[in-house]
Amino acid sequence: MKLTHFPRIRITHGPTPLEFMPRLTEALGGPNLYIKRDDCTGLGTGGNKTRKLEFLMADAAQQGADTIITQGATQSNHARQTVAIAAKMGMKCEILLEDRTGSTLAEYKQSGNVFLDHLYGARVQEVPGGTDMNAAMAKLADELRAKGQKPYVIPGGGSNALGALGYVVCALELVDQFTTQGLDVSCLVHATGSAGTQAGLVAGFEGTRSQIPVLGIGVRAAKEAQETNVYNLAVKTAELLGVPGAVSRASVMANCDYVGGGYGVPTPGMVEAVTMLARLEGILLDPVYSGKGMAGLIDLCRKGHFKKGQNIVFLHTGGAVALYGYMQTFKDLQPN
Ligand SMILES: *Cc1c(COP(=O)(O)O)cnc(C)c1O
Repeated sequence: MKLTHFPRIRITHGPTPLEFMPRLTEALGGPNLYIKRDDCTGLGTGGNKTRKLEFLMADAAQQGADTIITQGATQSNHARQTVAIAAKMGMKCEILLEDRTGSTLAEYKQSGNVFLDHLYGARVQEVPGGTDMNAAMAKLADELRAKGQKPYVIPGGGSNALGALGYVVCALELVDQFTTQGLDVSCLVHATGSAGTQAGLVAGFEGTRSQIPVLGIGVRAAKEAQETNVYNLAVKTAELLGVPGAVSRASVMANCDYVGGGYGVPTPGMVEAVTMLARLEGILLDPVYSGKGMAGLIDLCRKGHFKKGQNIVFLHTGGAVALYGYMQTFKDLQPN
C-alpha cells in the first residue's frame, strides 16, 4: 500500500492508547473489552476527524488554499476539528451547519462544538435540514473565488478516499499494537456515519490481509445503505492505495439497530452507555456517535453475540464536547 505517497501533516498525538476496560468487562460478564482512544488525538479536544484531516489539510495546503469550507450537523465534531486545524495552519474556515435534529434548545444550538467553532474563528452559517449540502458548499466556494479567495472544500465528515487514508493509518497502528500486546482480536466495533472511518479501517486491514473483522454501528442510515456507502468508499480507498480489489463486500458489516429516532436524537441505550462508561471507566463518550456505538456493543454483549474470552476492541471516535449540547438529556442523573 502506497501510504507514504500522499502529502500528510502530522497533528495526531499518536499512537493513541489501546486500553483494557476491566470494570465494563466485569459488569457485562462477556468478552474482554478494550478501547482504542481516538478521542485522544490531541488538537481541539480530539476525535476521529483529525486523522482524516492530516491528509485533507495537507492536500489543501499543497493546492495553495487559504480558506477551508466544510459542513456538518449543528453539533458536528468534524466541523470543530477542521476549524481547529485551519486555525493552526493560518487558514480561514467557513462552516455550514445543517439543522438535522430540529432541536431548539439553546445548549444544542450554541454550546459544545458550536461554541468551539466560533472560538477557533470560523464563520458559521446555519442552514435548514434537508439542504443539498454539497451544492451549498460549491456555491459558497464560487462566491469566495469571486472575491479572490482560494477555497478548498472538504466533504462532510472528511469522508472521501483521501480522508479515509487517515483510518488506513489507524488500521496499521492497531495491527502494530495488537502484535506488541499479543492481543488476538475477534472484532473491532465503532460508530459509523459518513463512512470514512470504517472504509479506511477495512481498506487497511484487508489491504494488509490482517483478518480483523470490523463492525460499524450505524447512527443515521439503514443497514443496506450504510454498508453500500462504506463498501464503495473502501473500494475507492484501496484503489487510491494501489491495492485495487483488496476489499470484499463481505468484509463490510454494519448494524443499524441502534439509531433510534434518527441522527442526533437521544436513545435510552445511548444515555445508559454514556453513563456506564463515565461511571465504570471514567471515559466520556458522546451522545450522537460513540454513545450509540457503545449502546450497540453493550446490547450485543448482553445478547451473547460475542463469547466470553474473546477480545473485542471499541474504537472511541471522540465527540464528548457535544455532551454540553445535550445536558437536558441527562437531567435525571442520580448519584451511584
Ligand atoms: C464523525 C464521527 C463518527 C463517524 O465517523 P465517520 O467516518 O463519519 O463514519 C463517529 N464518532 C464521532 C464522535 C464522530 O464525530
